[in-house]
Amino acid sequence: MKTISVKREGRRWYVVLSCDGVPAQTLPATGAVAGIDMGVASLVTTSDGRHLANPRHLATSADRLAEAQRDLTRKKRGSKRRRKAVVRVAALHAKVRRQRLDSAHKAALALVGDYDVMVHEDLRIANMTRSASGTLEAPGRNVAAKSGLNRSILDAGWGVFLTVLAHKAESAGRELIAVNPANTSRTCSRCGHCAQENRVTQAEFACVACGHTAHADVNAAINILRAGLALRQAAGAA
Ligand SMILES: [Zn+2]
Repeated sequence: MKTISVKREGRRWYVVLSCDGVPAQTLPATGAVAGIDMGVASLVTTSDGRHLANPRHLATSADRLAEAQRDLTRKKRGSKRRRKAVVRVAALHAKVRRQRLDSAHKAALALVGDYDVMVHEDLRIANMTRSASGTLEAPGRNVAAKSGLNRSILDAGWGVFLTVLAHKAESAGRELIAVNPANTSRTCSRCGHCAQENRVTQAEFACVACGHTAHADVNAAINILRAGLALRQAAGAA
């Protein structure tokens, strides 16, 4: 044991332990590889069609948080009611953080157990192209993305997920590859035709060239996997 610290978050107390020389827990090879698409309706969709961590409960908390923040702005400065509203906003922020971390851990654990190599979008590039192409402006109907706050909460979930995944992958001896996600959502994973029109809705992909149809996130995850394996092969050949 290296350090023990006690932390308070609102009305909750936490003990944080950090240890030195924790042995890595290498997992046996599975022979499986996966591309990972990070989205709004599901936190993670894999190239073999798995949908992990539906962040709907997170969206619900985000709505409550937005409401609590609006409520806070209406309270008079220095009033007892305002103090109460501040506590409520902080508690909801903490709840969102816990839910986000929990989904990230569960999804990452499932992936690391099943795949030797995982390819994901490079988030720094993804965030730029996403805001430019606006794919998040039309999220699935199931997820409330009413406010910018709501969306930013879901966005932050991807960063937390990738951080957790990187830690677990390293400990398990798994390989992670980050790729440029440009065009992965609008390119046909069967024939390679790239067009905005291929994307029918947030969830539906239909190639205008070859007629291939697929779940849009699965199609994107297959393209992500392919890009990652190509990078890996190029690195191996060099
Ligand atoms: Zn096609």
